Amino acid sequence: MKYRVTGLTSAVLISFSDLTYYHTWSVALLGGDRHTREKSLDKTFDLLVLGGGSGGLAHAQRAADYGKRVGVIESGPLGGTCVNVGCVPKKVMWYTAEHAHHLNHAADYGFDVTVGAHNWSALKSRRDAYIKRLNGIYKSNLDKRNVEHIAGYGSFKDAHTIVVDGQEISAERILIATGGHPVVPEIPGAELGITSDGFFELEDRPQRVLVVGSGYIAVELAGILSALGSETRIVVRKNGIVRTFDSMLGAELMESMRAHGTAIETGVIPKNLTQNEAGLTLTSVDGRTFGPVDSLIWAVGRAPNTADLNIEVTGVEMDARGFIATNKLQQTNIEHITALGDVTGRAALTPVAIAAGRRLADRLYNGMEGRHLDYHLIPTVVFSHPPIGTVGLTEDGARAEYGNAVKIYSSSFTAMFYALGDVKRRSTMKLITVGEEERIVGCHVIGEGADEMLQGFAVAIRMGATKADFDDTVAIHPTSAEEFVTMR
Ligand code: FAD
Ligand code: NDP
Repeated sequence: MKYRVTGLTSAVLISFSDLTYYHTWSVALLGGDRHTREKSLDKTFDLLVLGGGSGGLAHAQRAADYGKRVGVIESGPLGGTCVNVGCVPKKVMWYTAEHAHHLNHAADYGFDVTVGAHNWSALKSRRDAYIKRLNGIYKSNLDKRNVEHIAGYGSFKDAHTIVVDGQEISAERILIATGGHPVVPEIPGAELGITSDGFFELEDRPQRVLVVGSGYIAVELAGILSALGSETRIVVRKNGIVRTFDSMLGAELMESMRAHGTAIETGVIPKNLTQNEAGLTLTSVDGRTFGPVDSLIWAVGRAPNTADLNIEVTGVEMDARGFIATNKLQQTNIEHITALGDVTGRAALTPVAIAAGRRLADRLYNGMEGRHLDYHLIPTVVFSHPPIGTVGLTEDGARAEYGNAVKIYSSSFTAMFYALGDVKRRSTMKLITVGEEERIVGCHVIGEGADEMLQGFAVAIRMGATKADFDDTVAIHPTSAEEFVTMR
């Protein structure tokens, strides 16, 4: 195996159990008693991973399991977006909102409950402590495998070398897994708003909130804030929310959110954001104003972390928005440089980044030729209130692809959870089938329990399940999920 070694003045080989790397020492001999050890100046690895988030860590650990010498460069806390400012703190907040939801319905079940104020800052402390514990677990998972954690921001020196704090580190292969960051519109006053990152820093719950955007983050954060008592308004630039999913899901979610206290305004294209003593006010291009509010959250998408990598020196190709172009094997156009996760702009989800990372290591380091992640049929959940679960084609997508061969089954009902009370929320499900055999190509649900419902159905659909297979499956009663196997 060939390694590139750069910038060495003198090298001493040091072994720490399985981990072997080069340290450069500079010994000042002047006067005979002045010895200075510079910090390590050079390291070489089989694999260098740029970004210690979901995808980078998964790839690094599996490569190390296969006996490779691996370094992970991470400028922030280990775990990346998901652990620190994404899935994990978001799910904690979602559970918090779920508690509020259940407390609201406790009287239906005979409880005489008086709920005091919710202590947001106490919750945040516990949440932060949990995340710190996770950061520690991630570090020990690396240590266990002798994966070296290199703390700092990395940028390319050349196609085999990354510089971190002036230190040059080289490797035979490099994985780029630098993820993304929230986008803020380029309009006057935009900096007065916060993003999802800022949401997780809030020490107190803002009472009046405006959320701009229509995707996952907009509806998830709005749902949390609304459930905890904030006056919450979402503004979207088009005519709906979660528009990339089956249109039934967006329509149902919009109706439910509106019915339970979240205002949603459509056709709002932000023009500027201003602040006075009363709070923040957003003005739209058509002259409408929204506010004053205590907090405005931009949830208008994410951009890749590629601008400051000095990636140009490698020759790696990016698209117009800065996402790294990869083929199905996660290869860039440069043979030894691979990329995966959010930085590649495909299905920005944690399990996707992890699966791509593990499969890539299987292929590169365990002889599993051709192994790669299939990006079709990726199930996903939107942790809105109520939650959404979805996998496969939308109805529109299926009709565009299969025309008249498409047959739709759907069901709308009130989950039993609401049976004893006056306040009800509807659950709606849709199965999209194709052909005479009615192969299921899409499965969509919104309602109580949707978040935990779809994983198993996704397995079945991936295996080619037909409507008859669903019908032949005995229902689990009484559940909402059973509707999927009893639709007519
Ligand atoms: P990341 O996890 O973003 O990791 C990239 C890492 O690279 C970061 O730690 C960053 O600090 C580091 N880095 C970047 N540049 C450099 C550099 N030059 N040098 C050193 N380090 C660098 N997905 C789900 O599946 N379910 C969810 O419920 C969910 N909820 C989410 C909620 C929110 C609010 C957000 C923002 C995202 C959510 N996601 C969710 C998406 C998920 O977090 C991402 O898809 C996932 O984290 C992507 O993993 P990654 O490895 O590609 O990148
Ligand atoms: P999304 O891509 O989901 O949604 C952003 C939406 O904002 C766009 O689709 C667009 O919708 C709208 N938008 C874009 N630009 C503007 C603008 N200038 N002004 C107003 N609206 C605009 O991005 P998110 O930031 O919500 O989330 C990023 C990704 O992170 C998600 O796509 C998902 O992959 C992942 N994620 C996953 C979660 C989960 O698994 N539960 C949770 C959170 C994030 P439109 O065209 O309708 O205007």
